[in-house]
Amino acid sequence: MVRTYNGRIMPELPEVEMVAQGLRSALVGSTIVSVTVYWARSIALPDADEFARRLEGESITDVGRRGKWVLLTLGSGSGLLIHLRMTGQLILQEERPVNERHLRVLFALADGRWLCFFDQRKFGRMVLTTEPQGVVRELGPEPLEDEFTAATFAGMLARRRGSIKPLLLNQRFLAGLGNIYTDEALWRAGIHPLRRADSLTPDEAVGLHGAVRAVLREAIASGGTTLADTAYRQPDGQAGAFGGLLAVYGRAGQPCPRCGAEIERTLVGQRGTHICPHCQPRPVGE
Ligand SMILES: [Zn+2]
Repeated sequence: MVRTYNGRIMPELPEVEMVAQGLRSALVGSTIVSVTVYWARSIALPDADEFARRLEGESITDVGRRGKWVLLTLGSGSGLLIHLRMTGQLILQEERPVNERHLRVLFALADGRWLCFFDQRKFGRMVLTTEPQGVVRELGPEPLEDEFTAATFAGMLARRRGSIKPLLLNQRFLAGLGNIYTDEALWRAGIHPLRRADSLTPDEAVGLHGAVRAVLREAIASGGTTLADTAYRQPDGQAGAFGGLLAVYGRAGQPCPRCGAEIERTLVGQRGTHICPHCQPRPVGE
């Protein structure tokens, strides 16, 4: 089930994870024979010519994810980092694409397949580097890793005075969350997005930690969220199914699944924000 929403979304951790998993099973062991760059600014580093030249003959030894970056590890030890941003899609095809308007980068593989990077809005970026860890060094912890415990998270929150929602969106604080899963996690935890991070009680911090991890895990299990007007597709072209399971995101005016109150859409830090006014009481004085 895919609902219709206004406004675009960016792929978040679950969608990027699905892309990375799909590419890992399909691409590891493949060799890139040539690269054609149709939109030079899709390549952040190095320049497009050097990017194509250095990738020729490279094998793909692993595909992973860090935050919202897809990371292809190459036989030479270099890394190809890809950020889909708003509308980027990595699609693996048997046929060479012809006259595709939004095709920005095309990788020809030795086995005859084609890895296509489509990007309607052209905000997606690729970085080819011998030190991929340097690109992602500034990112905060991965929310699904074992080291990210409730105690760790509570300690991180206790040191921050800003509102909780913009903090969760800050990739240097915590990697991978975007607008959809932040709204869903705050609703599950019953926390208003304008609450000061350091005002959360220990129980609330534990609850939010569990909510963040649960919503991300469930979204991955559903193949991510594909909304009617959004670009996210798994590398085999399939849409994700989590859009039908969203509790508050994109559901303004509809009843809260927990209490029945009408879900409201507000702005928090310029981002469209969906809350249940009953389950997520507004902090006093804010
Ligand atoms: Zn409610």
